[in-house]
Amino acid sequence: MTYVSTRGQAPVLAFDDVLLAGLARDGGLYVPQEWPRFSAAEIRALAGLPYAELATRVMLPFLDRTISEDDFAALVADSYAGFGHAAVAPLKQLDRGDWLLELFHGPTLAFKDYALQLLGRLFDHVLARRGARVTIVGATSGDTGSAAIEACRDRAAIDIVILHPKGRVSEVQRRQMTTVLSSNVHNVAVEGTFDDCQDLVKALFNDQPFRDEMALSAVNSINWARIMAQIVYYFAAGTALGAPERPVSFAVPTGNFGNVYAGYGARAMGLPVEQFVVGSNRNDILTRFFDSGEMALGEVMPTLSPSMDIQVSSNFERLLFDLYDRDGAALADVMARFRATGAMNVGAARWKKALELFDGFRLDDDGTQAVIRDVYRATGELLDPHSAVGVAAGRARRRRADIPMISLATAHPAKFPAAVEAATGIHPALPARLADLFERPERCDVLPNDVAVLKDYVKGKVAKVAA
Ligand SMILES: *Cc1c(COP(=O)(O)O)cnc(C)c1O
Repeated sequence: MTYVSTRGQAPVLAFDDVLLAGLARDGGLYVPQEWPRFSAAEIRALAGLPYAELATRVMLPFLDRTISEDDFAALVADSYAGFGHAAVAPLKQLDRGDWLLELFHGPTLAFKDYALQLLGRLFDHVLARRGARVTIVGATSGDTGSAAIEACRDRAAIDIVILHPKGRVSEVQRRQMTTVLSSNVHNVAVEGTFDDCQDLVKALFNDQPFRDEMALSAVNSINWARIMAQIVYYFAAGTALGAPERPVSFAVPTGNFGNVYAGYGARAMGLPVEQFVVGSNRNDILTRFFDSGEMALGEVMPTLSPSMDIQVSSNFERLLFDLYDRDGAALADVMARFRATGAMNVGAARWKKALELFDGFRLDDDGTQAVIRDVYRATGELLDPHSAVGVAAGRARRRRADIPMISLATAHPAKFPAAVEAATGIHPALPARLADLFERPERCDVLPNDVAVLKDYVKGKVAKVAA
């Protein structure tokens, strides 16, 4: 199996090269040249397998023997061994035909762990084989930095430098990053804003000699391997509720469209899915697209579900690639115009095609609070604000009452305690394995908002190992 860029101009690559490349050289995103397909019998055989075993079977066709089956099975088993629930991604019933897929049992309590735990190990495995190393650099406003740090900690071929704005992330968010004391983890509190942090990271990547010397890399949400790892839990949930005999539907609280696109991938591989409902908060560029066929940039507004406060859903380009019949040149044109004008219209036929499978739904902060309260009253379950948007979307846009709707719970309620407590009066407790977070020692370096100082810092931290 090989991978092609959505913009048609980058080299066709094998899995291990796609893994390390991230973004394609033409600015596009890599997708498989052809989706692997499972027969009904193969899907039936997945039902009831332990998560790691199911995961290995679902992902193996994507590797095309670039990693041996035994090595890969070991990496996958290790990735999920430390999760806080034996089922890894358990399903919980909320109501008749209304299900919650809990994706918050990883080390940082949000669904990104499901892909990043494997991604860090895959990077390490492929780099070690090549005798190479990388320096992962990223900026975080608080939410996603810890998942990247947990993914890369203690990996022999990786250093990771994560910038956060000093004093502008919550204490839980900061401690989830700074209490990781592994020698390859470097936390930097920048005296500035999140935008300053992002600009600093961009400046490092734009300095080509520095970028080469430090072998800079990223583990961002467009990496193909993250999509691949997320496909797994769609199969796990679908087969648990009766696929392939019975179809299922999914509701997904969405920002960059990476999570729901993985569901689209599971369907392309043969999982019978009736419908995907895409949930947004007030940052509703996707809902407006499904309402109108036009994608138009807006202002980013802060909400109770900050991981979905985004302007452009970068992974949406992968769906557009299929809507444009995999014509990379045509899509490159569309994306260039979108960049220039801030808007794109895909035309009535493509819009209609998207609506066969997808529905959009938007929920503001008041609505989010109401759903958290109502679900708590009706079931005793505490939802985080992101998960609440998903549940509301699934209920509002469900097409068929006889097909189970599975909402993806993307964060543990204790990750967003203020919103949950305001809605329910209950302060959600951290799981036992994180209960001592506030007693653990921290390590973090404070730096001014100055790119020269940051470059010296990175060189000092990774120079010895890079040499
Ligand atoms: C990242 C994130 C999302 C959005 O996922 P996408 O793949 O970007 O659509 C939703 N909820 C939580 C808690 C997240 O961390």
